[in-house]
Amino acid sequence: MVPRHLLTTPISRELWHALQQRSRSSGQSIADIVQRTLAEALDLDHDAVFQVSTSGAIFDGVFEGFVTIGDLRRHGDFGIGTFDAIDGELIMLDGHCYQARSDGSVRQAPDDALTPFASVCWHQADLRVEVREPISWPELERLLDQHRPTENATVGIRCDGRFDRLHLRAACRAESGTDLATATRGQAEFVHGRISGTLVGFWTPAFARSIGIPGYHVHFISDDRAIGGHVLDLQAANLTIECNWTNDLRIAMPSQGAFLSADLHGPDDATVRAVEGQAAAFRDSRT
Ligand SMILES: [Zn+2]
Repeated sequence: MVPRHLLTTPISRELWHALQQRSRSSGQSIADIVQRTLAEALDLDHDAVFQVSTSGAIFDGVFEGFVTIGDLRRHGDFGIGTFDAIDGELIMLDGHCYQARSDGSVRQAPDDALTPFASVCWHQADLRVEVREPISWPELERLLDQHRPTENATVGIRCDGRFDRLHLRAACRAESGTDLATATRGQAEFVHGRISGTLVGFWTPAFARSIGIPGYHVHFISDDRAIGGHVLDLQAANLTIECNWTNDLRIAMPSQGAFLSADLHGPDDATVRAVEGQAAAFRDSRT
């Protein structure tokens, strides 16, 4: 684990005994209990992934935004998603939220813009890996598979580096009611060479497939914030990879509209592959 900040403070004997008892009964480390309890007391959900709507809803065509970007930024500084009427790709990095549109433009999204689907967290590196050789997307997936501690936790993935080739897409605006597979058939695709920037994304476990996009789902934003999108394929020259994992999930769900009558079972693997494009969106890492 990469050190974050070290807190050294005297506490009462009663608190110490209670902490030890909770750690024994719950199996959590004392550090985890302190972090989680402090976050709750200070009204922060620092270890949680904050999810807007579900993959089932977005694949079934529930595209109406209902959470503002301002609200989203209160729940994390790092993440991905889309905008109202799937008007492009959402990339949140270091607290700034960007919109990569189908015309190839990237702008900083205003706080009053709406999202129908997003996943954000507070990025912190539980693990850091340097890759100094060229690496393709399938190779990067396999490397990330090796470093995931479990199949059963969500992993936030940040990769900073240089890319020899990037194949990106940006969803075109579509009205609610069109399923995502149909809506993204006319997506805009872009290929870029020799570009520096950051991959931002998540690995979502199989059990959460109706909530998040199962497997790897990664977006990109360039260092100059001029190029961005959903990653379909890549060849990287070198990368610094940072991962953090959590099983604490908060979900904001619409309380009205198309969500209430949507089929929320979530996409099958073939549909995920067709829509998200990233090679074998959900693979067993042991095969
Ligand atoms: Zn995406």
